[in-house]
Amino acid sequence: MQTIKLLIDGQFVESQTSEWREVINPATQTVLARVPVATAREVEAAVGAAKRAFAGWRYTPIGTRARIFLRYQQLIREHTQEIAALLTAEQGKTLADAEGDVFRGLEVVEHAANIGTLQMGELANNVAGGIDTYTLQQPLGVCAGITPFNFPAMIPLWMFPMAIACGNTFVLKPSEQDPMCTMRLVELALQAGIPAGVLNVVHGTAPVVDALCDHPDVKAISFVGSTRVGTHVYERANRAGKRVQCMMGAKNHAVVLPDANKEQTLNALAGSSFGAAGQRCMAVSVVVLVGAANQWVPELVERAKSLKVGDGAAQGTEVGPLISKAARERVERLIASGQVEGAHIELDGREPALESTLQSGNFVGPTIFSKVKPGMSIYDEEIFGPVLCLCQAETLDEAIAFINRNPNGNGTSIFTQSGAAARKFQEEIEVGQVGINVPIPVPVPLFSFTGSRASKLGDLGPYGKQAVLFYTQTKTVTARWFDDQTVAPLNTTISLSK
Ligand code: NAD
Repeated sequence: MQTIKLLIDGQFVESQTSEWREVINPATQTVLARVPVATAREVEAAVGAAKRAFAGWRYTPIGTRARIFLRYQQLIREHTQEIAALLTAEQGKTLADAEGDVFRGLEVVEHAANIGTLQMGELANNVAGGIDTYTLQQPLGVCAGITPFNFPAMIPLWMFPMAIACGNTFVLKPSEQDPMCTMRLVELALQAGIPAGVLNVVHGTAPVVDALCDHPDVKAISFVGSTRVGTHVYERANRAGKRVQCMMGAKNHAVVLPDANKEQTLNALAGSSFGAAGQRCMAVSVVVLVGAANQWVPELVERAKSLKVGDGAAQGTEVGPLISKAARERVERLIASGQVEGAHIELDGREPALESTLQSGNFVGPTIFSKVKPGMSIYDEEIFGPVLCLCQAETLDEAIAFINRNPNGNGTSIFTQSGAAARKFQEEIEVGQVGINVPIPVPVPLFSFTGSRASKLGDLGPYGKQAVLFYTQTKTVTARWFDDQTVAPLNTTISLSK
């Protein structure tokens, strides 16, 4: 069986650990590989290599750094299908979704290749007599990234390219559930020219993450994952004096006004709620139907019913499996709780019709509840499965107030043909990423990912301008120069032409 390696100081090495996890194809239960839980010594070696490499990498000219990412984006393009196939095998999403996962990461790599203009400081000339003030955006040192299972290509690529392009070195801890496509991306990064020690990878679970949070030589941590773990990472790494950003769980509401384009809206809702089996942090998981839009429920149910559940690698599949048996059991438990707690089940996706080879896979089909209320577990918890909750409101004001009462702030959308309604929503909604007739409003890397409230800890988001600020220390220099030979002090009246 394939063994996933660690990357330490430019070498892919076999872990000396005695603790291993299996990487399992969630559609078929085939064991694809085993992944180590790195030992404390291995974590130490990875951080040590990154620290040594920083001494040289921080002074590598900006053009040299940028050109590595130009080569890297080309390599990712050339290998997209291969990486997507690996991703589907270990994660379950459809091949089209997997290619999208790679592509959204690739866009960040393209952006990292622009580091020359992104990492520029500012200068104010002559702030006082003969004095200039300017800023340097200097790299921090060793940075670490901890990533979730649901975007094993995109999310690692949110992190190490921007960190390294800024002049830092990096230790990545991928999800232990699907590390294979991440490792392929790491191999390509080395092929693109990232020097030994600048990028390192350790695998594992809580102890490995905790070791990174505690290590005095790690200066910043970027985490993406659940709210429970993200809160722990934020508090622990903060206590150790690090800069930390944590992108966490969500409950994304879409508001549907009765004037919305019905066809487009229903397609968008079905795709964003059930695509990737609902395992997207920006999936729509609650729809607030306003007024007459409540009459659209039967058509939404029909659309959800028509989605084909199956192996993500098979042609025509629209909803793949959940990542693990445990995830499937949890989603099924939550569906059962919805019935007990008084929601009305419009469509039950438990035990979907499947081909005989997939009977042991972790499948749950599209599920829809109506009459959902706060206080029910299906509303209060992030289900992270293909389960959509429908709620009602009489007016847009009521819908906005309802969403603002939910603690999460990752994403929200409104579907309407009214510019005035959309603008009111954009202004009054307390959620960091807003879609207008766009169900999954994840910004491209010219901007930054700006989830808010309970979905995020730390001020700065991944990629874009905010990532440059996260991965650099702003140093302000206030300078005055005297040259007695050629130039008299500038705060006197002597002419420069003398
Ligand atoms: P998770 O929190 O279980 O795991 C994330 C990472 O933390 C993994 O690398 C894992 O090994 C590590 N980890 C797990 N338990 C730990 C512990 N007790 N102590 C320290 N580290 C631990 O998340 P997941 O299930 O892999 O991913 C799904 C979650 O990620 C969902 O909540 C989803 O909303 C969230 N997510 C958020 C965003 C965002 O941008 N806001 C993006 C993608 C996913």
